[in-house]
Amino acid sequence: MTRDTGHDDGDERHGTNNTDESTEGSSHSDGVVRTDGGSDIESDDRTATDGGVESVTGGSDSTELDPDAYDPIDVFPEGELDLRDGADSCYKCTSCDTSCPVAEVDDEFPGPKFQGPEQWRLKRKEDADIDESITSCSNCMRCDDACPSSVPLSQMHNEARGQFVEEQMEKLSVEYVRNRILANYRTSARLASIVPRLSTYAMNFGPARWVMDKTLGIPKEREFPEFATTTFREWWRDRGGAQVSNPDKRVAYFHGCYSNYNTPEVGKAMVRVYEHFGYEVMVPPQKCSGTPMFANGMLKDARRHAVTNVENLIEAIGEGADVIASCTSCSMSLRQEYPELFDIHGIEDVSDHTFEALEYLRIHEDLTGALEEASPGDERSYAYHAPCHARNQGLSRQAVETFRDVDGVTMEDVGDSCSGISGTYGWKSEKYEKSMEIGEEMFHHMEDAEGEVGMTECPTCAMQMEHGTGYEIEHPLQLLEDTLVA
Ligand code: SF4
Ligand code: SF4
Repeated sequence: MTRDTGHDDGDERHGTNNTDESTEGSSHSDGVVRTDGGSDIESDDRTATDGGVESVTGGSDSTELDPDAYDPIDVFPEGELDLRDGADSCYKCTSCDTSCPVAEVDDEFPGPKFQGPEQWRLKRKEDADIDESITSCSNCMRCDDACPSSVPLSQMHNEARGQFVEEQMEKLSVEYVRNRILANYRTSARLASIVPRLSTYAMNFGPARWVMDKTLGIPKEREFPEFATTTFREWWRDRGGAQVSNPDKRVAYFHGCYSNYNTPEVGKAMVRVYEHFGYEVMVPPQKCSGTPMFANGMLKDARRHAVTNVENLIEAIGEGADVIASCTSCSMSLRQEYPELFDIHGIEDVSDHTFEALEYLRIHEDLTGALEEASPGDERSYAYHAPCHARNQGLSRQAVETFRDVDGVTMEDVGDSCSGISGTYGWKSEKYEKSMEIGEEMFHHMEDAEGEVGMTECPTCAMQMEHGTGYEIEHPLQLLEDTLVA
């Protein structure tokens, strides 16, 4: 049942399906259409289209002209990931701007409307670069949820950021190097896990943190997470893989980097809870979901990891499994960002078969019934924060709804604000203060709540919650394990 890691997925250096914004009509970007007869028709005689490409049909004397005399202008070239359709759905209501936590604290950030539809409209012209401010978008994806017109905002942001990093960012700059390190957390974590205790100590050693702040721009105020002495995959291998065999109820666990290297107790809870309900758990080989790579515009890295993930998850799906993630950003990535950004065989199937762990149980099991007579055995009060990526999947209330009637458990939702860390955003020195300012509302609500233990499904939100309040943070699966299994 257990399969080894160690797939070398090769260096997939295909393009990222970025829309090619250069149009065939670019030779007309001077606003002039040339006729065979050599006389120029000035743009004043024509009606401008939305994209700034001018039409020859609106001129008062257009009926006298020979249409064969014109070069065709392909205003909306066909192609995969043609984002302009989405851009044209924007009617400038600014709902996205008012929901953006970064725009609220950063006066220099122009907001999602500009980063999405407006930027892509500008990009119809060859001379428009991607605006550098795209690197300040934290990829929280709250704007997606806010848009009443289904404009694919985060897809546009990811594409724009990828293009900016690929074509405009200085590859030897400290910022690029720092972002690449943050985006490839799996690589650092793998190395650190060889000597976990020493790594945890060294990375939190005061002078080392000061040096990292000054040289790389990784804020000295943040505490590095502890590395587990036994990773989730080591534990899984040592226990002999799945303890339940059931071809009718199979799930493939996407544990992600954090549950493997830092909080294996979340992965263990997932396995024990699912086995309690009679599921056969598979743990396919996997790499990073790509979430920190999207947020830093490293789309080539993300694609390389996605190829391995899709290849292995599709195999598990073929064996009857659905894909379960315990991190809401991982499930978000597999469900939404993968098919939006990459064209990989099987990617739609992976998207359709992916669920968040608690969500899946609520759909397929009588969780309420199972919890009716159960109790963790002691009194517990939690301050629950729903991560932005859980909100985007419609899961913001699931933990509160699941546990609110459980004997001995008090669960308080601390509101709908963003935690402010957004993966790697809060791990950049220049963003640290803004990250804490965004998180302030959540910190206050946590402190006002009865419980002094936090709860969330997102590992980086958990870091921010702990950093801002000093609370210990749990995952809902851990409470489920304590209530149903332990
Ligand atoms: S993803 Fe988040 S930070 Fe980025 S523009 Fe949208 S709401 Fe703002
Ligand atoms: S919420 Fe949607 S329609 Fe409104 S301004 Fe933003 S992108 Fe445009």
